[in-house]
Amino acid sequence: MRDGSRRNRSPETIAASYGVASDVAYGAISPPIYLSSTFEFEQFEIPRPYDYGRVGNPSRDLLGETLARLEGGAGSVITSSGMSAVDLLLGQMKPGDHVIAPHDCYGGTMRLLKARSARCGFAVNFVDQSNDVDLYSALKPETSLILVESPSNPLMRVVDIAKVVELARTVEAAVAVDNTFLSPALQQPLALGADYVIHSTTKFLNGHSDVIGGAVVAADSDRALELRTWANVVGSIGAPFDAWLTLRGMRTLFPRMERQQRTAMQLANWLLEHSAVKGVNYPGLPSNPYHALAARQQKGFGAMLSFELADGVEAVKAFLDRLQIFTLAESLGGIESLVSHPATMTHVDMGEDARRSVGISNSLVRLSVGLEDAEELVADLADGLREL
Ligand code: PLP
Repeated sequence: MRDGSRRNRSPETIAASYGVASDVAYGAISPPIYLSSTFEFEQFEIPRPYDYGRVGNPSRDLLGETLARLEGGAGSVITSSGMSAVDLLLGQMKPGDHVIAPHDCYGGTMRLLKARSARCGFAVNFVDQSNDVDLYSALKPETSLILVESPSNPLMRVVDIAKVVELARTVEAAVAVDNTFLSPALQQPLALGADYVIHSTTKFLNGHSDVIGGAVVAADSDRALELRTWANVVGSIGAPFDAWLTLRGMRTLFPRMERQQRTAMQLANWLLEHSAVKGVNYPGLPSNPYHALAARQQKGFGAMLSFELADGVEAVKAFLDRLQIFTLAESLGGIESLVSHPATMTHVDMGEDARRSVGISNSLVRLSVGLEDAEELVADLADGLREL
């Protein structure tokens, strides 16, 4: 393999070149896609490194290795979606176990936790993890997993990962951090002591809104092997073509994140001054309550933000109708700017009461900031907010 594959290379070099020019057949620069579902045995009872595509696939493994190196982990599993990545981890839970999850996590994660815990006999508590007292009181001897989402979706609350790890150690619980909103370019939870990192690779890692995928990276090799074995048992695997596309997207992860977060900061500052806006959730703003923690724990503030309109849901509708560059859609992390309304979209299944109790109001709007010209994005928001 080329230089970019060496252990001591910088994350930028790994993202750009891990596995490049590794093709031994023709010297292809872009790693080939191995679509084959099965592989010929060398001889009777002697398989090659790959025998069956559910167990392993070279294209999927190349993505997994690249991501594991970027996160500083020992190994990873590439799954078919972010949700199946969370579920893969929940597959490690036994009846009687206890899981602590954020009270304001992604709506799909909350739905999955509720459904799995009811079916599989483990308990789950949804807790405000930024509140030490709440977190501490939720801990039990049988707590086996603390799931963290930082920054959280859609309120951009930041959780002190090292502190959660410290608390988790007192009951020997594992800590898994959903790093979807920042990617390893901006945050490395394993370096802060976490045991697992979860990704919806659908988002910033792939970055082009053309793949649904997920990943779990484990800090140590025993946990990585356990997950890989379980992924084979339940068949929770990503497709080779999706893996190839995702790795292609990851080649530009660092410059995308850099540019997108710069624009996000500009938009957050602009929104903060607008009379139609009641509050902006972006940890990059010095006035944000999580600013100091985010500055310490993250390498950047990311390209996601949310804000509340002063005039309620009618104003949200008028604003969304007027936008021309921001597209009303679920998802995030692509090169194109998207806008969403959590109460009726990503977090609808949470129910009104649960949303209200964690602060997701009906007038909250979430932005995923893309690569478009920053001034034109500001102008689009200004058009949307006109007369509000
Ligand atoms: N985790 C977070 C933080 C998310 O925002 C999402 C989806 O929006 C998921 C997990 C689920 O990912 P996927 O849609 O790839 O299943």
